[in-house]
Amino acid sequence: MVCSGGADVLVGGVTAVTPVVTVAGRRDDAKCAASYTGSVDHPVIVLASDEHASHLDDEFRRYHRDYDVRVVRTCDDATALLERLCAADRQIALLVQDAGLPDADVWTSFAAWRRVVPTARRLVTVPWERFLEEGDRLRPGLAHGKFDAFLLMPRGLRDEEFHAAVVELLSDWGSTVARPEVETIRLVSRPGNPLTAAVRDFAHRMGIPAGVHHPDSDVGREILAELATTRQESGAAEAPGEPVVASVYRAPFVATSVREVAQALNGSSGETVLTDVVDVAVVGAGPAGLATAVYAASEGLSTVVLEAEAVGGQAGTSSMIRNYLGFPRGVSGMRLAQRARNQAVRFGARFLTGWEVDALQPCDASLAHDEREHVLTTPGGGHVRARSVVIATGVAYRHLGVASVEELVGRGVYYGSAMTAAPEVEGQPVVVVGGGNSAGQAAIHLARFASSVTIVVRRDLTETMSQYLIDELRWNERVHVRVGVEVVDGGGAGLLEWLDLRTNASGEVERVPAAGLFLLLGARPTCGWLPPTVARDPRGFVLTGRDVPKEAWLGPGGVPGPWASDAIVPPDTLATTAPGVFAVGDIRSGSMKRVASASGEGASVVPLIHAWLAP
Ligand SMILES: Cc1cc2nc3c(=O)[nH]c(=O)nc-3n(C[C@H](O)[C@H](O)[C@H](O)COP(=O)(O)OP(=O)(O)OC[C@H]3O[C@@H](n4cnc5c(N)ncnc54)[C@H](O)[C@@H]3O)c2cc1C
Repeated sequence: MVCSGGADVLVGGVTAVTPVVTVAGRRDDAKCAASYTGSVDHPVIVLASDEHASHLDDEFRRYHRDYDVRVVRTCDDATALLERLCAADRQIALLVQDAGLPDADVWTSFAAWRRVVPTARRLVTVPWERFLEEGDRLRPGLAHGKFDAFLLMPRGLRDEEFHAAVVELLSDWGSTVARPEVETIRLVSRPGNPLTAAVRDFAHRMGIPAGVHHPDSDVGREILAELATTRQESGAAEAPGEPVVASVYRAPFVATSVREVAQALNGSSGETVLTDVVDVAVVGAGPAGLATAVYAASEGLSTVVLEAEAVGGQAGTSSMIRNYLGFPRGVSGMRLAQRARNQAVRFGARFLTGWEVDALQPCDASLAHDEREHVLTTPGGGHVRARSVVIATGVAYRHLGVASVEELVGRGVYYGSAMTAAPEVEGQPVVVVGGGNSAGQAAIHLARFASSVTIVVRRDLTETMSQYLIDELRWNERVHVRVGVEVVDGGGAGLLEWLDLRTNASGEVERVPAAGLFLLLGARPTCGWLPPTVARDPRGFVLTGRDVPKEAWLGPGGVPGPWASDAIVPPDTLATTAPGVFAVGDIRSGSMKRVASASGEGASVVPLIHAWLAP
């Protein structure tokens, strides 16, 4: 049996009542038994150690309020315990293993436990006296994703480094697997509704705990009754539809788009009035826009960020970013983005989510400095006036272009969204299309839930994916890679059930069962709304600095020509051909297309903004 513990984040049917658990959590030493406080409703932490059982149990005492901490002494005991817990529908958050169990080595134990609980986070603790010898042996396991961390066994009280790592792993599990304890928004919907899937994905990326409830469930009936009352009181016409969205912010309503939900939570561009002219308007809240907001606001510039969808951009859809400086155990893109947003807000930046910019009217650069004003407008009627503009709109996924498959978007077919849709494909086969790092990460995350993950890619992965991900995929027994293969058809009764895969060399088409298709196909720039004065390369990416063609270089003070050819200079590195308008991150022509480079550019643009505002 495979158990994810938390697989019903999307409650597809009537809400199930958590069964009363009769599992006997065996506490092997008397001291542990006496201190047992775990609740049957709490997620479980399993500590597996023979020699240090009592010590580890003592160290994990601080988690007893929120977790059900169990101690076992052997690999077999742990496997048996996990099977019983899964049979009782318990959530298992963390498996902690002493590097020396009597009946199995680290690899064998984690492989056995992973078969039962693929979603739990895995931690190895190594006693001090064995750390040097074990370190070399364990390091490859970390690189191949066999476990999430290995740490020195805590020595003495308050080893906060150890506990910081434990809390990080629990937090990561909590934000990607666990059922939300408190739902900030509740959606009432039947299964297979694409808009419901999109709204839930948005909520996840915004760090908003959301639950989906069937209309026939207790919660569903309660919300629908409240909706009916609100309509009666306001005299509004009965407009059926799903999902119905209930939140603490306003009365329940029938959502018609993700943007409507974003605006319901954050205020629409028509309702929100910005009277002041801000120093910096940032368009897009991916890593580049977030970094611009943090550094601009921290240096005293009044800063507004306009974001069409959820904060975090592409990075916000990543299950685990492992190559970002300072996060040795990796970080989920959503958590990274939420932290950056909070940081920017602390410095005074304002975020307007659900605001899609559809036009930019650049300033007249020949005016005096304090009179220069750019105007950004949104379809909702709101506009923002700014002394400088930073374009950080990144890229959007390419589409597959197979009509039968496109029809099932949100019903088993997803662009990105591997994070939120993964629990729905538990125990079933899925296909991932794409050969980039995003596809590799999606496959690793999906393999925690799905029975098998097939990566379908046209060219060899070594051409497009980082080696660390290729290695991790190779070690994952649930992941298979098929090179030179394409998806050519798909279908099912309402939900995706099968896909036709064509092997390009032979032309042979094979029908495979698939409950999920995750498309991570590379990207195109998203800046069709920019005026022609902002020069772009032939693929549509924004040109900056020396990449700008010479005829668009500027004269003294950044003012466009005509000027003598020896008087003109290229724009600054991150400056576009429109004075006072900058471009950072993936949208910039020639950029590296990574989280670190995008956030680095977001930070680097701030001195250029200062120079523009006060030359
Ligand atoms: C699944 C996935 C996993 C990845 N993993 C990694 C990794 O592990 N390591 C790594 O280094 N990189 C990774 N990447 C790449 C990395 O996420 C991107 O390079 C990075 O996010 C680019 O940041 P950005 O801010 O330039 O653009 P984006 O992240 O694309 O953000 C742009 C934002 O602008 C918004 N926007 C667009 N148009 C408008 C408009 N008109 N008005 C208002 N807002 C608008 C979008 O909604 C979006 O939120 C991954 C990408 C994906 C998709």
